[in-house]
Amino acid sequence: MFKRGTNEIKNMLTSKVKKIFKSAKKSLQKMGFKIVFHEEKCIGCGACSAVCPDNWELNGDKAQPKVTELTEKGCNADAQDICPTGAIEIVEE
Ligand code: SF4
Repeated sequence: MFKRGTNEIKNMLTSKVKKIFKSAKKSLQKMGFKIVFHEEKCIGCGACSAVCPDNWELNGDKAQPKVTELTEKGCNADAQDICPTGAIEIVEE
């Protein structure tokens, strides 16, 4: 009735489950956020560096992020909210 033995089926399922977990793990590792900074919109008001000094600083008359690849939005979300010109955009990756 069964062409394949129990162990063979078990091994096949184990292999498939491992592949699914490996794929899911890779997807989870990719998840994060990216700051897209529209420098041309920046008026240098400094609000972003005031609410998120860990990642935002003024450089001359423009702000700039220290890092743009994020695992969490953190205070960057506050910087995005407070920016009066919409220069800060955070997108999911
Ligand atoms: S809050 Fe916006 S406009 Fe103000 S310095 Fe930061 S990025 Fe520039």
